[in-house]
Amino acid sequence: MNKPADAAAAHVTNFIRNVIDAALASGKYASRTWGGRPGPAATHAGAPSDPAKIRTRFPPEPNGYLHFGHAKSICLNFGLARDYGGVCHMRFDDTNPEKEEQEYVDSILDAVRWLGFGWIANGAEHLYHASDYFDSMYLAAEYLVTSGHAYVDEQSVEEMRATRGTLTEHGRSSPWRDRPAVESLARLREMRAGKHADGSMVLRARIDMASPNINLRDPAIYRIKKATHHRTGDKWCIYPMYTYAHPIEDALEQITHSICTLEFEDQRPFYDWLLERLAEGGLLARPLPQQLEFARLNLSYVVLSKRKLIQLVDEGHVEGWDDPRLPTLAGARRRGYTPEGFRLFAERIGVSKSDSWIDYGVLEECMREHLNQVAPRRIAVLDPLKLVIENYPAGAEEECLAPNHPQKPELGKRAVPFSRELWIEREDFMETPAKGYFRLYPPGLTPAGDPRPGNKVRLRYGFVIECTGCDKDASGRVTAVRCNYYADSKSGTPGSDAYKVKGNVHWVSARHAYRCEVRLYDRLFREPHPGAGERDFLLDLNPEAKKVISAQLEPALKQARPEERFQFERHGYFVADRIESKPGAPVFNRAVTLKDAWKK
Ligand code: ATP
Ligand code: MG
Repeated sequence: MNKPADAAAAHVTNFIRNVIDAALASGKYASRTWGGRPGPAATHAGAPSDPAKIRTRFPPEPNGYLHFGHAKSICLNFGLARDYGGVCHMRFDDTNPEKEEQEYVDSILDAVRWLGFGWIANGAEHLYHASDYFDSMYLAAEYLVTSGHAYVDEQSVEEMRATRGTLTEHGRSSPWRDRPAVESLARLREMRAGKHADGSMVLRARIDMASPNINLRDPAIYRIKKATHHRTGDKWCIYPMYTYAHPIEDALEQITHSICTLEFEDQRPFYDWLLERLAEGGLLARPLPQQLEFARLNLSYVVLSKRKLIQLVDEGHVEGWDDPRLPTLAGARRRGYTPEGFRLFAERIGVSKSDSWIDYGVLEECMREHLNQVAPRRIAVLDPLKLVIENYPAGAEEECLAPNHPQKPELGKRAVPFSRELWIEREDFMETPAKGYFRLYPPGLTPAGDPRPGNKVRLRYGFVIECTGCDKDASGRVTAVRCNYYADSKSGTPGSDAYKVKGNVHWVSARHAYRCEVRLYDRLFREPHPGAGERDFLLDLNPEAKKVISAQLEPALKQARPEERFQFERHGYFVADRIESKPGAPVFNRAVTLKDAWKK
């Protein structure tokens, strides 16, 4: 229970670790060098041996905010680098000129740092942009053309689609497939010079139109796109396809293990084909990177598809990318989830080769486990009802001592003010008690008609009180509960445990309380698989995922700093909102309840 979240890390093995162990043991990497920066073979030839035992990378496209699925990939890639004395490169896969923005770049870097990882290692910063490699990628394309491994195809998009074949039928060769290399090269250079229209021709790898793997049937590797790129501006009007760019990025960066999600498994033969051709041409250093695929994270009760997340934000179903309901890392942070909780989650779910669903409750439990260790306890009344102690002097006040953490006595106790009028939870009083109800109820009659006294409970860390009655408004709603207290029953004073009561009720002093806004967050969807079948996933949104209440908190909470986390006793874990809290006036978000209310 008190183990640090990462303690288990080194002991959990998985198929990826097995592959790395075997590669290291085989001596395959003994000759690896590192020229101090990414680059083709020449950059690394004759350079000192690589101080990084392995190199992994996290390569997001800067076209959205990171979500919980990315956290799995980040923890995996940066975690492996950490555990093996390697380096994980932070790389923006920004080869697509459209849809990419600086706002996303910034939020991605923030999220990775927040999760506890960095990209400075061995005295160097390993923050890279795929767009910095456009020159190398283009040179590689010219090499493929001159060596007969690529050609410019001038068929229309429709023609190419029609001749690609199917799973059961071979593809058919393009009439341009066997054109002389010099002709393809001239065309490629014209493409680059902007002489041809978007879509009029593409550069294709020349592999095998009869391959059972459709990805090897002469895939397109460069297309014309007259678009401005957010980093390279108008320097290029041709852009590499993702499947071509990615292996080259890995190789230029001397990545040893290129870990991606399972849908890229069918691309691995092309990945290997391409790197082999470029290595045999002397363009890339060996050993070449190895692609490994793992199952992406599928998490119940949320959606992790970029398209759906964009829809939720754009259509206003949530209040922005960092809405605490969203499964984005920016949202999680505001909600009060912790980096340690995510790292624990990543360890616990592990990596596998087959797709499966992880229950949202597993993530919540990881957050609880970490928050339980680090969050000091505080008292909060979320649905306040006035309690008047009739035999307590009106102007008087005193202090009660409450422990900051029940499992960590070394964190000490704090004083909470006590006075004649308190706030208690509305649910801690029943005018007519249900069977088995141990909290406050007034004197009355038993079901058999015999008189019974008002109930006694302990005010947590305070006195034992006995309920004497309640006040109601015209509609019959209870407006205050009345009671008497026993002056010799104060917790921690001699003889106080002579009082035996079953109920224990938390409270804050009305005169001293900090009244503020508290947001009770819950799961974004009420169905485990939003939009399952043909249903519109929006219909499964949980209307109760955000409730805003006005709560009464113990006065110390007024000083909470943004992002400070607490357990509100009996209620759950809360954080002072990092965006909307004002100095001396925090507002709080519920990260997670104390118990899983969704368990079936
Ligand atoms: P898209 O490619 O549709 O824009 P993406 O979710 O793949 O979206 P990327 O920015 O390409 O976004 O992802 C960066 C890295 O995060 C990739 O290496 C990818 O494998 C990984 N990743 C994305 N989604 C998940 C997921 N659900 N589980 C695990 N890893 C993921
Ligand atoms: Mg992707």
